[in-house]
Amino acid sequence: MIGIGLIGGSFAIDIKEHNPEVIIHGISRKETTLEKALELGLIDKKATLDDLENADLVIVSIPVDATVKLLPTILDKISDNTLVVDAGSTKKAICKVVEHHKNRRNFLACHPIAGTENSGPTAAISGLYKGKTNIICEVEKTTFKLQEKALDLFRAIGMRIRYMDPVSHDKHIAYVSHLSHISAFMLGKTVINKEKNERDIFDMAGSGFASTVRLAKSSPAMWTPIFKQNKDNVIETLEEYISNLQHFKELMQQDNFSEIFNEMENTNYIKQILNGIK
Ligand code: NAP
Repeated sequence: MIGIGLIGGSFAIDIKEHNPEVIIHGISRKETTLEKALELGLIDKKATLDDLENADLVIVSIPVDATVKLLPTILDKISDNTLVVDAGSTKKAICKVVEHHKNRRNFLACHPIAGTENSGPTAAISGLYKGKTNIICEVEKTTFKLQEKALDLFRAIGMRIRYMDPVSHDKHIAYVSHLSHISAFMLGKTVINKEKNERDIFDMAGSGFASTVRLAKSSPAMWTPIFKQNKDNVIETLEEYISNLQHFKELMQQDNFSEIFNEMENTNYIKQILNGIK
C-alpha cells in the first residue's frame, strides 16, 4: 500500500476483511503516518520501495503529482507477476508517464469514485467502496491475467466497473467532481469572509449550508495537484459555471423571478439523474 490515507487505508480495511490471510505492507513519506497506520491496524508491516519486488499487489494512493513522479520507479522495482493499481483522481498524466514503460502491462489505471472530505489514515473507513464505481482506463494495456486479478478484488469489495479513456475521464470528472470542490471551497470562502464582519452568521447556518460546503473541508495537498493536472478542463467548467451564476445575478437585477423559477425548476431534473445513479 503506497499511501495509507483515506483511499489507501479504506482499501486496506476492505481487502483484509475479504482476505484475512493477506499481509499488508505500508509505504509512506512520513514515519508518523506509517506509525498511525500500524496503530490503526491498516497495515501489518512497514516497508520501502525496495520491498516491491516481493509484492503481489501494489495500490498507489498518493496525490496525483506524487503518483506521476513515483509510478515509473514503482514499475521499475516490481516482479513480473505484480499488479500495480493507482487511485488517482486524474488519469491522463498518469497514463502518459508510463506509456512506454517496459512494465506498462503490470499497471491498471483506476479511479474509484468514492471518498469523503477527510484525509489521512484516521479517515479510512470500512465499506467505502461498496456500491461505488471504479473507472478503469486503458484496460487493454494491462495484461489479461492481471486485469482479472484486479476485477476479482474490486468485485469482492462491492465495486461496479466502468471503462473509459483517460482524456474522456479527465473531461467528465472535471464537471462532476472537480467543479463541485471548487464551488464548495469558494462558497465556504464567501461565507467565512462575511463572518469576519457578522459573527452570528454561523448560528444561522443550517444543514443545507453544511451539506453544500462539506467538500470545502477537503485536503488542499490532494486537490491542488488535481487542478494543476486537469487545468484546461477545470477552466472550461468554471467558465460555464461562472456564466450561469452571472445569468442568475442578471435575472435578479431585472426582477425576472418567473425566469428564476424556471431555471430552478429545470434544474430539479437533477433529482431524476441522481436517482438513476443510485
Ligand atoms: P490522503 O488521505 O491525504 O492520503 C494521501 C497519502 O499520500 C498519505 O498517506 C500521505 O502520506 C501520502 N503522500 C502525500 N504526499 C505524498 C508525496 N508527495 N509522496 C508520497 N506520498 C505522499 O489522500 P486520499 O484522499 O487517500 O487520496 C489519495 C489518492 O486518491 C489521490 O491521488 C486522490 O486523487 C485519489 N482519490 C481521492 C478521493 C477522495 O475523495 N479523497 C477519491 C478518489 C480518488 P504522508 O502523511 O506520509 O505524506
